[in-house]
Amino acid sequence: MDKIVIVGAGVAGVNAATKLVDNGYDGSKITIIDMGKSPYERLPEEVMTGFLGAGGWSDGKLTYHTSIGGQLSKYCGEEKAMELMDQVINNFKRFHPKPEEVQCSNPEEEPNFIKPHFGLRLFPVWHVGTDYLHEIGKNWYDYLVDGGVEFIWETKVTNIDFENQLVSLGVVDEMSYDRLIFGVGKSGIDFGKALAEEYKLPTEPKAVQIGVRFEAPQKHFQKLIDISYDFKLYRKFEDKGVSLRSFCTNNNAAYVAAEHTYGDYSYNGHAKKDEAYRNDMTNFGILMEIKGIDKPFNWSREAVKKLQINGTGTYFSPSHRVPSLTSEGDYVKVEVVNSIEPLYDALGDYALYIEDFIEDMEKIFPTLGKDWGIYMPEVKYLSPEPLVNYEDLSLTKYDNVYFVGDALSARGITVSGAQGIYVSESII
Ligand SMILES: Cc1cc2nc3c(=O)[nH]c(=O)nc-3n(C[C@H](O)[C@H](O)[C@H](O)COP(=O)(O)OP(=O)(O)OC[C@H]3O[C@@H](n4cnc5c(N)ncnc54)[C@H](O)[C@@H]3O)c2cc1C
Repeated sequence: MDKIVIVGAGVAGVNAATKLVDNGYDGSKITIIDMGKSPYERLPEEVMTGFLGAGGWSDGKLTYHTSIGGQLSKYCGEEKAMELMDQVINNFKRFHPKPEEVQCSNPEEEPNFIKPHFGLRLFPVWHVGTDYLHEIGKNWYDYLVDGGVEFIWETKVTNIDFENQLVSLGVVDEMSYDRLIFGVGKSGIDFGKALAEEYKLPTEPKAVQIGVRFEAPQKHFQKLIDISYDFKLYRKFEDKGVSLRSFCTNNNAAYVAAEHTYGDYSYNGHAKKDEAYRNDMTNFGILMEIKGIDKPFNWSREAVKKLQINGTGTYFSPSHRVPSLTSEGDYVKVEVVNSIEPLYDALGDYALYIEDFIEDMEKIFPTLGKDWGIYMPEVKYLSPEPLVNYEDLSLTKYDNVYFVGDALSARGITVSGAQGIYVSESII
């Protein structure tokens, strides 16, 4: 059996290893290296690193549709994509302390009141529950350790020599591999980029994905939440190469979370299941996808920088709402500004699309008025997507190196996990 090294114990890496172990692959031939901690050691504030990666402390919402979360079906076709996603969902259920609580919401009809301003993307979502993720992580980890998988924690992979099949751990240590699964997620995006540049890996062109995290009392949105818990409002301006969508909606016990990437602040959200955390708020990203921008990564970085004041991101509310508390009871780290101007400084005229989006929400949700606030920015840095062989996600230049998860622009738990499983099926 080949020696497999998996860089990143995130959703993709863990699902890949599980598929191998499930199918009798000798666990002692699998090593997973992660710069974060095991599920027994990992702290709640370690949002992006450690067992199950960003998925480990995420909102635990498993989207179940091929049009959501990257382009899985591009690689393997619709039918296979759904089957792979089923496997990921089953893995989360299998290690869940109360699998019967994992429920699926499946909205069916687009309501009239949102028209003509918005479309609504309807798709099923499985809710694992943030509060259970930690327990799931421990059970899942134990299974892999029992299966012989070696984990190396709190160790950052600093380089990979694709030619000589070597992984560098810090300055002195090295490890060889026969096959390498590269699943470093969003926290390893700069690493993936550096490797792509060093090895001149051919990549696919990417769009910019940037916007704000919108927050308001839940009552204003209840009519829509009743139809779709994680509603996705969207609109498209085809001729301008711009589209907008509401992204990752959280309700009931909804908290805004600050993300720290490249030394800058941006915002995201998560929801708790436990009633004790109920705050009756709703938050979601208003994300704009802009196609055709030269060097989209650099453009996004610049825009994010312009929205930083005194070392944090910014917050604006026309009705002077104050930023909310986090689930730990602190205020979300953010600098309050008095107008939406900073968004224009950062995004230029593109900010108008976001302002219009909010204005149209005020029309279709009549009680909303100005009772809202926005955390700026929310950003998705899409890593340069290296060209891979569609049948197994191996690099076109190095066919024993597989890119998976957010490192291959997956965006989301189900698709990231599915990619990991897809790779392992090809190895098996
Ligand atoms: C706050 C938050 C909430 C989210 N909520 C949801 C949700 O509800 N539903 C959903 O579908 N998606 C959600 N997401 C996105 C989802 O978590 C990711 O898309 C998914 O985890 C990506 O999986 P991955 O395996 O590619 O990377 P990750 O899960 O991010 O794992 C990558 C791992 O690689 C490790 N790593 C990185 N670089 C190195 C290195 N150089 N050396 C060693 N280790 C390294 C990291 O420590 C990390 O553990 C959320 C993300 C965040 C941040």
